[in-house]
Amino acid sequence: MRNRLGMNNNPTAREFERTCKRLIVHTEVGPSGSANVIALDTTSILHCSSATSNTLTHTAAGESNETVEQSVNTFEKFLEDHDYLGSQSWILTDCAEDIVAYIAGFIVKSLQRDVVCSRCKELLEGEEVLSKLQIRKTFGRLYRASNLTVLICKAGEQAVRFLKAESKLFIQNEQTLQALILNIIQELPSDVFQSFGNHVFDGEIWNNHSIELPKLILKKYINLQIYHETSKLSDVRTLRKKLTKTILFRNE
Ligand SMILES: [Zn+2]
Repeated sequence: MRNRLGMNNNPTAREFERTCKRLIVHTEVGPSGSANVIALDTTSILHCSSATSNTLTHTAAGESNETVEQSVNTFEKFLEDHDYLGSQSWILTDCAEDIVAYIAGFIVKSLQRDVVCSRCKELLEGEEVLSKLQIRKTFGRLYRASNLTVLICKAGEQAVRFLKAESKLFIQNEQTLQALILNIIQELPSDVFQSFGNHVFDGEIWNNHSIELPKLILKKYINLQIYHETSKLSDVRTLRKKLTKTILFRNE
């Protein structure tokens, strides 16, 4: 008890209560069998350990018997067989488009260091905010994604949604990710490349900034979505977090 609260020997009543509750919850103190107090049910307070779960990595490593090349081939074949961007069912709702436009602002922010070319930097950011959600959430300065960035992010979102719903194949390695990105770039609307104007002619035909910039944006966007999906899967500490807040901050 004394170790808590920064070795405070003289806690206030509220601090003492809080520390006591915390210790009881942490050690799962219960009544002994011979005592005259009986627990109403056998519910344990904490159901999970605070150690990082490695289940996902184990299953991923265990199931991947196929080589990188095989997985990329399967993935490319799957993408060839399914025309996801042309499919009507994957048109985003107004709400989803607005959220994607908001996320696009974050993509612009995170690409500031990666993009060195000044013309590309100008193309990333727009004059006005395209997302209503962003207008509502802005209290300071948030990056305004340009129409170009939002268009590319929308294509990425459609592809990720499609993969999540229709396929058990998930992006397993860097090569699969590259295959997906190339596939999305081939399907991008012509408005995207027109936005680059004369900048298309700076560099080689197949390796100029009008290809490199969409690649960078898509890579960031898809990685962000993968991170989101996996953190949803591995978030087993929700109950613990919830209980900690209830016990420590609300004194319940
Ligand atoms: Zn450029």
